[in-house]
Parts: sequence; structure tokens; C-alpha cells
Amino acid sequence: MFNRETLVNQVNSNPNWDVIIIGGGATGLGVALDAATRGYKTLLLEQVDFAKGTSSRSTKLVHGGVRYLAQGNVDLVREALYERGLMLKNASHLVSKQSFIIPNYRWFDSAFYTLGLKVYDLLSGKLSFGKSTRINKSETVSRLSTLKNDKLKGGVVYYDGQFDDARLAVNIAQSCIENGATVLNHFKVNTLLKNTDGKINGVVAKDTESGLEYKLNAAVVINATGVFSDAVLKMDNISAKTSIRPSQGIHLVFDKSYLPGNDAIMIPKTEDGRVLFLVPWHNKVVVGTTDTLLDSHSLEPKPLEQEIDFILQTANKYLNKKATRKDVLSIFAGLRPLAAPKDNSEKTKEISRSHKIIVSSSGLITITGGKWTTYRRMAQDTINKVIALKKLPKLKCKTKDLLIHGANGIVDRSNHLYIYGTDQTLIADLITENPDLSVRLHPRLQFTKAEVVLAVRNEMARTIDDVLARRVRVLFLDAKAAIEIAPLVGELIREELNQTAAWKAEQISDFVKMAEQYVLK
Ligand SMILES: Cc1cc2nc3c(=O)[nH]c(=O)nc-3n(C[C@H](O)[C@H](O)[C@H](O)COP(=O)(O)OP(=O)(O)OC[C@H]3O[C@@H](n4cnc5c(N)ncnc54)[C@H](O)[C@@H]3O)c2cc1C
Repeated sequence: MFNRETLVNQVNSNPNWDVIIIGGGATGLGVALDAATRGYKTLLLEQVDFAKGTSSRSTKLVHGGVRYLAQGNVDLVREALYERGLMLKNASHLVSKQSFIIPNYRWFDSAFYTLGLKVYDLLSGKLSFGKSTRINKSETVSRLSTLKNDKLKGGVVYYDGQFDDARLAVNIAQSCIENGATVLNHFKVNTLLKNTDGKINGVVAKDTESGLEYKLNAAVVINATGVFSDAVLKMDNISAKTSIRPSQGIHLVFDKSYLPGNDAIMIPKTEDGRVLFLVPWHNKVVVGTTDTLLDSHSLEPKPLEQEIDFILQTANKYLNKKATRKDVLSIFAGLRPLAAPKDNSEKTKEISRSHKIIVSSSGLITITGGKWTTYRRMAQDTINKVIALKKLPKLKCKTKDLLIHGANGIVDRSNHLYIYGTDQTLIADLITENPDLSVRLHPRLQFTKAEVVLAVRNEMARTIDDVLARRVRVLFLDAKAAIEIAPLVGELIREELNQTAAWKAEQISDFVKMAEQYVLK
């Protein structure tokens, strides 16, 4: 079912679709799942890999956004808290409840955050993740053993969610296919097709593996390309104004000894007025993020020196275990789409806090902004808009209670394989067939050869980057280890795809060059 040849054949034999979605991040995949489950004939095309863009580079939180509450954005927070609850129910293998502690150094802060978080609890209603509480200094220190406790007054505990972003993207892609959609990675849209009235009625897309081009027709084309949206808007109208300005956020990943307990830390106001999180993730700690306006976007955004310094300095202000550059196991950057100023007098505005659907005069639908947590609601609103525009017959949204591929309800997190949910049995089967596949990829990592084989056979991975960045998250957890195992992983993929030695050599060289950027020197 997840075989590339089968999926490409579906494109080959079906030039006509109800919906074509450009972009396989959280937004595009959500729209594809919504459209397919309603019963529309759906095609999604992703130029590189699912979640290659911002959707694999988040802070890994499934959250209502405490920060937005402080800004008085109550409706937005209520909506995100509702979606947070649905995500936990529908993707229980990848989403978990996470306790956060806000350390307080002034009595006023303690009262302020306790009250604010009570409102947060109330807004989550029946889908609450747990009641927030004020804790005293000794409990704060015992739960956060690496927190500096000079002048510490106490803490406030609250609950949000935590997840594996890229794996959820892959599982949503699998759910799309299980519900009748055709979903392809390594397939780039280069041109939009228009009818004689100038209305968009399809795309020209290239399979970047075979180099073959396809002309595909659709009742509606949806642009879900995040920070790349302007490039697609320009395919529609060459003189379209720049609507997006990217803002970069970086994260540093450290060993678990920097945060040995189960709680995450939330610093509500850093020196630049942002929020900083220190979150346990796959037995490591993710620390971020920043907000730096850039002039251009890229598939591999580069962390800036001032961002690295800022995160290290801020973390060291709160931690009694000193974090230095050499302690960083991986560093990654993601881009938020901000609304570009219309003229010089206007400043950039964040559009990512709530989503926005734009309909161009030629009928192209662009969906931007929002956050991972609200991907399902964004998709529902997008397809409802398409129906309101009478581009598709009315059919009801079905994703509210839809289990995502792999979800099984009961999650035993004692074994790292829990992330596969119901697919864990496939890994066991592979190892029974070939016991050598139980061998670990690296002495510092729990991941095994079987997981690479599964990624290629069942999860549509095609390259070393697809496997090490977004199926097993080694590149984000330990970039040096990722570089060290690239030849082994390259060989496993080569065998599975029946590729040549030259293909493997090129793969290793491309991957290592890219992965060097995740190593902090
Ligand atoms: C630093 C940072 C931290 C964040 N943390 C969180 C968090 O903790 N929790 C949360 O809920 N949200 C978080 N977010 C927000 C969330 O990550 C984004 O809202 C979400 O990932 C955006 O998804 P997207 O699909 O719109 O964009 P993307 O993930 O960027 O996807 C767009 C895709 O389009 C593809 N594409 C582009 N052009 C073409 C083409 N011509 N043909 C085919 N494909 C194309 C790209 O390759 C890309 O994969 C964070 C964002 C940032 C920047």
C-alpha cells in the first residue's frame, strides 16, 4: 500500500483529481487527510519528504499556547487546547502529556502564573491534561535538580502535550493512503495549469527520482507550502507581491543529564521577551527557541551565531550544570511564515499564531500560519472554504475522531519502539525473518537496522536523510552519530531499493554535507 511504484502508477493512470495539495508538511497532510476521508479523490505532492520543512523542526509541543493567553488571545488558545485533546486521543502513540514547571523568582510572578494557568485549565474543559498547581521551593528544587535555586521562591506546574513531529507527519501520510488518497514525496510541483478563463485547473509536477513530468488536472489546487507559499503564488501570478517574511527559530539538543527528571521547564520571559522551553524528548533535552527575521528561506536553514549564544546564555542563567557548545548534540533551525510588511511604514506581523486562508482570483487556495497543534482544524476550515466556494460537492468532515495510523490507545513507553504504535509487530516480524536486523545502528543509540528497513518498506523513506532525520530522529538527537552511521544506513537502503554502489556513495556524501550543519563546532 505504501509502495512508491504503486503510488506513482496511480498518478500515471489518473490525470483527473478532485483536490491536489502542494506541500507535505503538517498543513498539507492535514488537508489531504480531511479531503480523502470526506470522499474526495485526493493527491498530495511533496517536493522532498514529508515534514522536510518546518514540520520536523518544531519545539515538539502540542499546546494551547500559554504565551497567547498572556496576549489575551482567548479564542485561539481555547481552539488549540481542544485540538491538543483530540491529538492525544487520535495519535496516542506519538503524543503524551507533559508537565512543565515555571520557576518563580518573585512572589508576584508566582501569583500571576498560578492565576493565568487556572484560566488555561478552564479553557481546556473536558479535554484537560491535568490541573495546574503552585509548588514550594523545596518541591521545585527536588523536581528540577539542575535548576539554579538562588532567590528561587517556588514554581507553578502546568500540563501540555509533547510529540514526535516528523513521525506524526509520516503516520498522517499513511492514514491518507489508507483512506484512498495518493500521497507522494520527492515529487515537485513546478507549474500551475489554467483554463481559458484563467482559472487554475491543475499542476505540472516532476517525479524527482525518475525525472518524469506529469500534467494533472484538479477541481481545486491547494497551496500548503509554508514559508515557500510565495513561490507558488508567483506560479499563479508572476507579479504577485511578496506576502511572507521568514522568521527563524533554532533549538539546541543536550544530553538528558541537563534535565534528569520528568518535568519540562518553561521560562516565560527571556531577555528578548520570548518564551524559552527545555523539554525532555526521546531521552534527550530540546532547548529553544529564537525569533530572527531573515531575508530568504531555505530547506536547510542555518542557525546564526547570535541565536546559539542567546540560547546558551539563557539556559545557563537557569541551569546549575553549565551548557557549552561542546555539549550540544544537535542543532536545528525552522522557519515561521510571518506576514511581510505591505510598505516600509509597516512592521512584520506574526500570522503563524492563527491560520489564514487566501483565495486568489484564479481560484488557488493558500493556507498558511497556524501551528502543528491545530493542523486538523486548519484542514477542516480549508476544505469547508472550498465547499463554500462551490468547487466541490458538500461532504462532512470526518477527522475529529479518526485514529491516525499506528494509534493503539495503550502505550508502554518503557521500550523506544512505542513510537511505532501498532506497527511494532512489523519490526518484530522483520527481526524474526532476519535476526541480524536486531543489531543497533550505533552504540549510543537504541535504533536498530530493522527500523531502517521498515522505514523504506512501510514508511516511504527514499534517502538517508529521510530515514535519519524524520523516521528515526538520529540527526536531531545526536548529529555526530548520524554522520557515523550514514554508510551503514546507506547500504541498508541501497539493498532495499536495489540501487547501485554509485547511488549509495552520492547519498552518503550529500547526507554528510548536510548533517555537518547540525553539529556545533
Ligand atoms: C521554531 C519553531 C517552533 C515551533 N514549535 C511548535 C510547537 O512546539 N508546537 C506547534 O504546535 N507548532 C510549532 N511550530 C509551528 C509548526 O511547526 C508549523 O506551524 C507547521 O510545521 C507548519 O507546517 P506547514 O505544512 O505549513 O509548513 P512546512 O512544514 O514548511 O511544509 C511545507 C512543505 O511544502 C513543501 N513544498 C514547497 N514547495 C513545494 C513544491 N513546489 N512542490 C511540492 N512541495 C513543496 C516543502 O518541501 C515543505 O515540506 C513551530 C514553528 C517554528 C518555526
